[in-house]
Parts: sequence; C-alpha cells; structure tokens
Amino acid sequence: MTDCLFCKILAGEIPSDTVYSDSTVTAFRDINPVAPTHILVVPNKHIRAVSELEEEDEQLVGHLFTVARTLAEEEGIEESGYRLIINNGPDAGQVVFHLHLHLIGGHKMQYPMG
Ligand code: AMP
Ligand code: ZN
Repeated sequence: MTDCLFCKILAGEIPSDTVYSDSTVTAFRDINPVAPTHILVVPNKHIRAVSELEEEDEQLVGHLFTVARTLAEEEGIEESGYRLIINNGPDAGQVVFHLHLHLIGGHKMQYPMG
C-alpha cells in the first residue's frame, strides 16, 4: 500500500524506533507515547482494520499478542501490568488504517475506558 504510513515504516521509507521484527510482525515505539512504554505491534501484511480480518489471519493476530507479551517482559512491565488496545474505525479513534496493537504500560492507567 503506497499511501499507508505503516507500510512506509515497514519498508524503511520512514524512520522508526523498531524494537522487534520477524517475518510476519514488526513492533516500533509510538511517536506520541501516552505512557512510559507505548509500542505498536503491526502485521507486516497490510490489513486496514479488525473489520477487514480474514479467517486466514487468525494465526497472525495471535502472534501480535504473543509478541506484545514478550515485549512487555522486555520492558519490565509484566508484573506492574499493561493495556493492549486495538482501535477499529472512527468512533474508536483509529487514525492509521493499518492494523496495529498498542502495548501501553509503565504507569497506573485511568479506568473505566470509553
Ligand atoms: P490509532 O489511533 O489506533 O490509529 O493509532 C495510531 C498511532 O500511530 C497513534 O498513537 C500515533 O501516535 C502513532 N503514529 C503516527 N505516526 C507515527 C510514526 N511515524 N511512528 C510511530 N507512531 C506513529
Ligand atoms: Zn499498510
């Protein structure tokens, strides 16, 4: 996707603070962090949003979560806790239409959500 910001990051056309990469998933630090740890875990394949997931993507989506868990351990927030967020569509505030899992932690977060 030539007009997709995250595809450009994955292609190395836009710099990012990448913390993890494998054949299907890449993770980089959010440019505008809302907490001490704020990492985006992104499929290398362009998928616009959760609403466009296919059955064949199920393993990939699971992998986003296990990568996030591993990164949480590396960030030292596995005990203190963290939040995983996927925004889907306008009401959720999705602004980048390339699926991504936010890994957020490192301080006490507000609740309730929404
Ligand atoms: P969302 O609202 O779920 O679509 O979140 C998009 C996220 O992408 C926001 O938290 C932005 O701060 C983040 N973002 C936008 N541009 C960049 C960039 N160039 N590098 C890293 N994160 C970015
Ligand atoms: Zn993309």
